Amino acid sequence: MARVRLEKLRKIYQDGPRSRVAVHDVELDVADGEFVVLVGPSGCGKSTTLRMIAGLESISGGRLLIGDRVMNDVPPKDRDIAMVFQSYALYPHMTAFDNMAFALRLRDRPLAEITKRVEDAATLLGISELLQRKPRQMSGGERQRIALGRAIVRQPQVFLFDEPLSNLDAKLRVQMRREIARLHRQLGTTMIYVTHDQVEAMTLGDRIVVLRDGRVQQIADPGELYATPRNAFVASFIGTPPMNLIKGAIEPGTPAIFRSSDGLSLLPLPGLPVDRLTAIAGRPLILGVRPEDVHPATDGGLVVRVDLVEPLGNEILVYASLGETELIARAAPGQAPSAASSIRLQPDTARLHFFDAESGQRIEV
Ligand code: ADP
Ligand code: MG
Repeated sequence: MARVRLEKLRKIYQDGPRSRVAVHDVELDVADGEFVVLVGPSGCGKSTTLRMIAGLESISGGRLLIGDRVMNDVPPKDRDIAMVFQSYALYPHMTAFDNMAFALRLRDRPLAEITKRVEDAATLLGISELLQRKPRQMSGGERQRIALGRAIVRQPQVFLFDEPLSNLDAKLRVQMRREIARLHRQLGTTMIYVTHDQVEAMTLGDRIVVLRDGRVQQIADPGELYATPRNAFVASFIGTPPMNLIKGAIEPGTPAIFRSSDGLSLLPLPGLPVDRLTAIAGRPLILGVRPEDVHPATDGGLVVRVDLVEPLGNEILVYASLGETELIARAAPGQAPSAASSIRLQPDTARLHFFDAESGQRIEV
């Protein structure tokens, strides 16, 4: 097991005559035994970062340390890491046993040790009865378990996962997610996990690194990321349905009032510190409020037009528009407004978020 440190880690790709920075000076300190998830939209540099840790991609700048050793120029096989890919990457002509034993055989481990390690990993993953099958005789979920088993038998210092569940159907994905969480608890090994799926990130990570365009947006545990997103991007990326974001500005007063930028909606903000609101009055802002913090009201609030009502059984999602802005509210079952009607939605003013409209940075009030 080991601590992993990324110090201003940078990747520059040569794109013909032009060079492009894919990963910008990423700073990350993963504690020994920690489960850290890198999450962000496609193309934000997750795989590139992971591949630099694995040694599959050269490092253009900064330092990578595993344990206390600088690994920048150490070949992948000497980094003591194991990686699991989305594509499984199993050898098709080999049995599951041979796939799992492959790396140990390369290292000339004694046969008895190889057999024991493979059988132990198979027991841990509940795949003992699959060991004599070849990949084509297995389902996608079974293949991914073999790929996990192949990583486990190596007893690495660090596990790296690159979207390992993306090829599985929704139900299996949830099941494998639990399996990976359990493996982490049982093995206690440092894990770095890449996904574009924020639900996967929130459910698996001790800490989450949100990336955008190769830059770290925020590093925090799931609770903090949800409660205090550092900018409007993180606010809208984490959480389903996403946080509502309304452009506008504050007008000073007692109470201060938020006026949407189309001028059509006014939202009084009682209960918030008047001096803090006065200090940011007039500045172009984005007001953020999560769907569960917006409630149907009989008076006050925002007058919106209901576009769509989605009954999910346990709750109802109300999709509405406020001028040009789309809003989503979660309502209790039985509280469904009718589509195409006008209703009032009252945001819980104690649970609002404010962001600077230009930089997107969070403003504390
Ligand atoms: P993610 O895994 O987050 O989807 P990647 O790390 O694969 O993103 O890619 C980050 C950026 O680097 C993308 O813009 C991608 O097009 C670019 N990129 C990835 N691999 C290469 C490569 N081998 N050569 C040039 N550009 C690359
Ligand atoms: Mg990727």
